[in-house]
Amino acid sequence: MQFKAPRGTSDILPQQQPHWEFVTRAAADVAARFGYRRIDTPLFEDTSLFKRGVGTDTDIVQKEMYSFQDTGGEEVTLRPEGTAPVCRAYLEHGMSSWPQPVRLYYVGPMFRYERPQAGRYRQFHQFGVEVFGDESPEVDAEVIELGWLFLRDLGLTGLKLRLNSIGDAADRPRHLDALRGYYSARLADLPAIDRERLGRSPLRLLDSKEPQSQELAVQAPRSIDYLSDASARRWESVLRAVDRLKAVYPELSYEVDHRLVRGLDYYTHTVFEIEPEGAQGQSTLLGGGRYDGLMEVIGGPRTPGIGFAAGLERFILNLQKQGVGVDAGRAVNVVIVHLGEAAASVALELAAGLRRGGTAALMAPAGKSMKAQMRYADAVESRYALIIGDREIAAGTGQLKDLKAGEGQQVEVKLDAEAVARAVNAA
Ligand code: AMP
Repeated sequence: MQFKAPRGTSDILPQQQPHWEFVTRAAADVAARFGYRRIDTPLFEDTSLFKRGVGTDTDIVQKEMYSFQDTGGEEVTLRPEGTAPVCRAYLEHGMSSWPQPVRLYYVGPMFRYERPQAGRYRQFHQFGVEVFGDESPEVDAEVIELGWLFLRDLGLTGLKLRLNSIGDAADRPRHLDALRGYYSARLADLPAIDRERLGRSPLRLLDSKEPQSQELAVQAPRSIDYLSDASARRWESVLRAVDRLKAVYPELSYEVDHRLVRGLDYYTHTVFEIEPEGAQGQSTLLGGGRYDGLMEVIGGPRTPGIGFAAGLERFILNLQKQGVGVDAGRAVNVVIVHLGEAAASVALELAAGLRRGGTAALMAPAGKSMKAQMRYADAVESRYALIIGDREIAAGTGQLKDLKAGEGQQVEVKLDAEAVARAVNAA
């Protein structure tokens, strides 16, 4: 029997790490430019936090959570998303007494029991941001701008922003009634799965993956037609604020899409997604929205909030598809090739001295031929090989070979960590 990584999970191998570093560094960098500070929450939480915070009618809670009882009898769940945990932390740490708004971001793994396919996994990683304590439309625009700039910084182009307003809890029942009326009159055209959803959560029919439902959704009642005056004014202000951003980002194109409702129950007012142009299906790079009611749902005082989450695996797929180059960096400066027992102990001490002084150095595998040791130095992409045999020890100098400068680039260097460090770091 051979073990494999669990279905829908993957190892991030050393050769893939430069892409991951690139993406996580870009996330931290753009978040810092907007004044967002990092927060890390546990990988698991009380199951009831997600049941309440995400909503019992959602796909996530209905069928995608990794939930279990731990040995102490606690019901816990591997986090399927980051917003409810960050809200829990906001309440737990009294962040309402911090200067408002509080701007936070996170990067880390999420877990959902989904059917794995390209761009959809059971363990995946999200970069997410949240802003609490400010309900102004300008903050909606700021969060959208942050997402847009992040994608730009990554070098992704040809992006499309889709926007919608689903109003607030008071607007929603009118829209849901209209949806029920519309779909009830067309039951025969609805696939079974959506007929069943209609009773529980009519909004889900708008972003259904079923082709017949997608066709019906085009003419379905639009949430923006059921907004109160205040919600409608707010929606207009958000659109004006996003239009204003076009002065800085002329390529920022958006479309209002009334089928965009997002999969989670807690959204209010603005919802948005960014995807590659011409994309179909499971390709959304980043999605978010406002959730002014969430904090109350999980037991806190009313606190406005807005955020987004972006799936890092999808960025990396897109970076590779668009051929965006990533600097692989160089880990090893010098590999010490040593021939004979005496050379091995000199090499050991030299490597230790180099590393202590800050130079990345390692010993080639012992007991191998010079050729095999040199091949190893190449394989780890070392810049230099330092060659030591009995003759070099007697002379007190080794041969330092520049592996990137072509044949014959070799100098003598004193067998002393400081001298070697000077020589390899001079380049
Ligand atoms: P959501 O939290 O469902 O709104 O998703 C936000 C973003 O996370 C999506 O736009 C995707 O980029 C990413 N995402 C969500 N679910 C998955 C998954 N199962 N596998 C990979 N990425 C995902």
